[in-house]
Amino acid sequence: MEYDVIVVGGGPAGMTAALYAARAAKRVLLAEGAGFGGQISHSPRVENYPGVEPQSGSALAAAMADQLAAQEVEFGFAAATGARAVPGGFEVLAEGEAWRGKSLVLAPGMEHRRLGLAGEDGIAGISYCAVCDGAFYKGREVAVVGGGDTALQDALLLADLCGHVTLIHRRGELRGAAALAKRLRSRPNVEFLLNTAVTAFESEAGRLTGLAVKNTADAGTGSLAVDGVFLAVGQTPGTAPFAGFVALDEQGFVLAGEDCRTSRPGVFAAGDCRTKQVRQLATAVGDGAVAGLAASEWAAGAQH
Ligand code: NAP
Repeated sequence: MEYDVIVVGGGPAGMTAALYAARAAKRVLLAEGAGFGGQISHSPRVENYPGVEPQSGSALAAAMADQLAAQEVEFGFAAATGARAVPGGFEVLAEGEAWRGKSLVLAPGMEHRRLGLAGEDGIAGISYCAVCDGAFYKGREVAVVGGGDTALQDALLLADLCGHVTLIHRRGELRGAAALAKRLRSRPNVEFLLNTAVTAFESEAGRLTGLAVKNTADAGTGSLAVDGVFLAVGQTPGTAPFAGFVALDEQGFVLAGEDCRTSRPGVFAAGDCRTKQVRQLATAVGDGAVAGLAASEWAAGAQH
């Protein structure tokens, strides 16, 4: 076998699993097709990670990646497309790659949920990442769709950059943290459009010009002129490549408990992709430690 432990996914859970396995003197490959950091790389400010000064998620992710490089973790820069059992271990398939390892940690995290409206892929001005794209809308009119922590954080970031921000949420109450909502309410250029659903994207020459909206309480309709919209309506687990390889629940989360063991011996699941109650940076890192150590033990033959 080429590797002792293969970790799929370079978010906080995967990076922590790789760190623990490397420190257990295992030869480790971390496979990641996008940048390191997963969801935290979209966070403008991480302020709930114990003992760490508030900082951008991308800065925190970069520090974690540097720590892995120092531990001689090897990186595979390709997105995993599947996995299968082979004699003595597992093979992870990726674009143009096939890596073999004795044990496997799945930490693919989550993917952006989409509204599923016409033009969502093609119209310019629709974004899922305020940290990445917010600067394009300096001084302009934008909307954020969603009522969770991501939407509130995005709206706060955009309020500093944009002329005006409308937060559109389908219910009357926000789901996100009260502290974030309080900060947002104090911003003079932020407006809340509650009980409101976006029903269509309006565009001219392929560029967003506005949103068609509908009141979810009285079914009244209207239109909101915006230059950009940031969709923050949650995520779905990025586990599709592993359906049939390990057992998933009906929402696509990998069935695994706090010990991170999946339905397939030698394969562990860590972070937001796993069935669990609390999906936070701190819990992802906790999973990573558990899964990294368990995968290392498996690779050493302790549980064969
Ligand atoms: P989330 O908590 O699942 O919130 C998604 C929001 O989108 C909800 O308000 C939901 O409405 C709305 N929504 C879902 N589908 C929709 C649709 N089809 N049309 C319109 N609205 C829709 O997702 P998230 O905000 O990305 O957060 C994910 C996790 O990361 C959470 O556990 C969150 O606490 C965590 N997080 C934490 C921080 C932090 O600073 N601590 C920052 C970011 C994320 P309903 O409310 O009606 O369901």
